[in-house]
Amino acid sequence: VNAARSVKIGILGAAGRMGQMIAREILGRQYAGAELGAAVDGKDSWALGRDLGEVLGFGPSGVTVSTDAAKAFEDCDVLIDFTTPEATMAHAALAYESGRAYVVGTTGLGQMEEAGVIAAAQRAPVLQSANMSVGVNVLLALVAQVAEKLDDKYDIEIFEAHHRQKIDAPSGTALALGHAAAAARGTTLDAAMVAARFGQIGARIPGSIGISVFRGGDVIGDHTVTFAGAGERLELTHKASDRGLFARGAVKAALWLHDKPIGRYTMRDVIGI
Ligand code: NAD
Repeated sequence: VNAARSVKIGILGAAGRMGQMIAREILGRQYAGAELGAAVDGKDSWALGRDLGEVLGFGPSGVTVSTDAAKAFEDCDVLIDFTTPEATMAHAALAYESGRAYVVGTTGLGQMEEAGVIAAAQRAPVLQSANMSVGVNVLLALVAQVAEKLDDKYDIEIFEAHHRQKIDAPSGTALALGHAAAAARGTTLDAAMVAARFGQIGARIPGSIGISVFRGGDVIGDHTVTFAGAGERLELTHKASDRGLFARGAVKAALWLHDKPIGRYTMRDVIGI
């Protein structure tokens, strides 16, 4: 690999579950022309001041974990963000100012934070995806297709399960599946979603899209979309069994995005579906 021409990737949230996996991918694999350019984590991070390669057992990488996101945007060709909604908001502003290619994997963004990411895409190439796996992106297309084929006599219910440390609910992937189903039925998830059921709630509202949530153990991410009709149910399920799946997707997305024109992209653009 010609170091002078390799793509410098900066990781935002470098010491987190996903950040570490992404660093392992870049440091340990033979991505043609990919190089770790910066590692940024939160101000309370255990990893600050330490060499990320050494922390992960790869030996010195020359990249020290710091809180300086602005410098990371200056130094790198593309940034990958798996942090928190609050941090993502600040990072989106840096993408806007620097014009640097920016991959957003953070989920649980509120309206303000979403608006920040959308604004960044007016000045920078921005790829946002709640799920970087190939399988889930194929599932999104399948759900839209099935929701269209089966009329609204088939009730749509979405179930998701994640590990006990996950802080947002429902998962960004469950919401994306809900958006895909709602759009295919000519409505919006905001109008159709029922995300909690308890007590004397009455019969199911026709056309609603239910989302239920499991939290526990070390589940990396399961999603099922059920179409429940009279006398039959069709279930589409995806199960992630390796967090490296998302990390490989994120690195692939970064390498794809770094030289793209300003604008908004999703994982489906990378995969070509
Ligand atoms: P995590 O809590 O393990 O990691 C988050 C990291 O961000 C932590 O190390 C934290 O110190 C760091 N951080 C906090 N504030 C920061 C700041 N201001 N600047 C830089 N770093 C900061 O969480 P995780 O499991 O790695 O997940 C992170 C996010 O990614 C979540 O929103 C999760 O839902 C999402 N996620 C997305 C996908 C996908 O494919 N898109 C897959 C898995 C997880």
